[in-house]
Amino acid sequence: MLKWYEILRGIMLVMLSKIRIVLVETSHSGNIGSAARAMKTMGLSQLYLVSPKQAIDEQAVALSAGAEDVLNKAIVVNNFDEAIADCSLVIGTSARLRHLQTTLVNPKECAEKALIHHQEGQIAIVFGRERVGLINDELLKCRYHLHIPANPEYSSLNLAMAVQLVCYELRMAYLSQKKEIKQISSIENTYPDARELTYFFNQTEKVYQRLGFIKNQSVIPKLQRLYQRAEIEKNELNILLGMLKAVEKRLD
Ligand code: SAH
Repeated sequence: MLKWYEILRGIMLVMLSKIRIVLVETSHSGNIGSAARAMKTMGLSQLYLVSPKQAIDEQAVALSAGAEDVLNKAIVVNNFDEAIADCSLVIGTSARLRHLQTTLVNPKECAEKALIHHQEGQIAIVFGRERVGLINDELLKCRYHLHIPANPEYSSLNLAMAVQLVCYELRMAYLSQKKEIKQISSIENTYPDARELTYFFNQTEKVYQRLGFIKNQSVIPKLQRLYQRAEIEKNELNILLGMLKAVEKRLD
């Protein structure tokens, strides 16, 4: 049977695959290629293109620099609604969103939302047109609005660079979760459980009594405290049990 942390690890592994990057009416195929590259470096692979102005051409492939697989499986759709139809969390991005106080998130917060949501369903992060971004009607269809807090006097990033920053934060969120799960699972593998410790303390008491060392009740609790403080690992406990066994053998 799978342990709980193995199940959790399995769930985590699908996080990035649940997130799609949607580019709306992109004018330059080079930006599509660069966005694919940005995605692949961060472990994302689902690219949706809403009515791109240029097809995936040589320029796109050249700028994807080896992320051709992302381009090859990119899904081209006719309109915004089609790209997000099966998504239960849609986040729209824009260079000028400061007025949207309540739904505004930065890239890190966006990644946190994605992390929480990915078990519920598909997630779309939508990027706008190079010149005019996303239109109001499209922004209204997004639950959260992501703004990269850039220089207020010059806040518009290149499309693929915005994709890179957002995907980087998604990766950071994913990695930090993975690390946490690894730490928890290694604790489970390393340390003996309470039952194993109790067995060890009982054996200790038994052997030391036979040796005539333990004569009163106060020694074992003291030894228990000592061993607890030492944070004995499983393999160390096995050595101690082996020592007790060797002593017992001699006594027999
Ligand atoms: N003049 C447009 C800029 C478009 S830049 C506008 O004001 O929205 C192309 C796309 O890159 C944007 O639609 C958005 O998806 C992304 N982008 C660029 N700068 C951004 C920023 N500071 N925060 C969030 N997204 C940004």
